[in-house]
Amino acid sequence: MVKILLIEDEVHVQELVRITLEKEGFRVITALDGKQGLDVARREKPDLIILDLALPVIDGFDVCKILRDQTDTAAIPIIILSARDGETDIVIGLMLGADDYMTKPFSPRELYARIKARLREGQRKNELPNGPLRWGDLEIVQESYIATIAAKPINLTVKEFELLVIFLKNPYQVFSREYLIQKVWGTISGSGSRALDVHISHLRNKLKSLGPVLDSVRGVGYAFVRRV
Ligand code: CA
Repeated sequence: MVKILLIEDEVHVQELVRITLEKEGFRVITALDGKQGLDVARREKPDLIILDLALPVIDGFDVCKILRDQTDTAAIPIIILSARDGETDIVIGLMLGADDYMTKPFSPRELYARIKARLREGQRKNELPNGPLRWGDLEIVQESYIATIAAKPINLTVKEFELLVIFLKNPYQVFSREYLIQKVWGTISGSGSRALDVHISHLRNKLKSLGPVLDSVRGVGYAFVRRV
C-alpha cells in the first residue's frame, strides 16, 4: 500500500487530507511539527511527503532541505502544501528540491491528481534500464540516480537529475522550454516555467567545474552545449 507522510500542524487540514487520501486507498501517516516529520520520514520511508511550510520547531523550508540532503530521504517526492502563495515562497520551495507546490485552500481532487502524477514519475524512473551517460568528466547512472564529476559524487535533486538525463542523451540538441517542462514537470503551467529556470541555474552551479554548460538559446530554450 502506498504510504504518504503528511507533515502539518493544523489539525483540520490534517484531517481533511487524511480523509481524502484514505478514501483513495493510500495509507496516511502524520507528523505535527518539522522535527517529528523528519524523524518519521527516516523511520517510515514514505512513498511521498506532503509538507506544510509554517511548522513548529523546524519550518517546512528547512525540513525540505534536510530531506533532500540525507541520502536515505533524498529521492522521496515532496509536495509543499502551504497557505503562503507568494511567488518567492514557491520558487524557494522548488529550489530546495520540492517536486510540486500547492496553495491552501486546496482542492482535494487536485491534490490527489498531483500525488498520482508524482508517484507515476517515480515508477517510470525505476523502469529505466539504461547504462551510464557521460560528458567529459561527468558521469550519470540513471538506475541509481548517481552523478559524479571526476568520480566525485555531486548532489542533485530528482528534477535536476531528470533534466540532466534529457540533456546528456542529446548533448548538442536545443530543447524548447515547453518540451523540458512537459517532460520533467508534466505540465506547462507558469510555475513549471519558473521552476525550469531555477533548476537550470542550480545545475549550472553544480556543474561549473565542467566549464560553461546549459546554454540558453534565446526565444527557444536550452542546450547542454552548442556546437560552434
Ligand atoms: Ca502550518
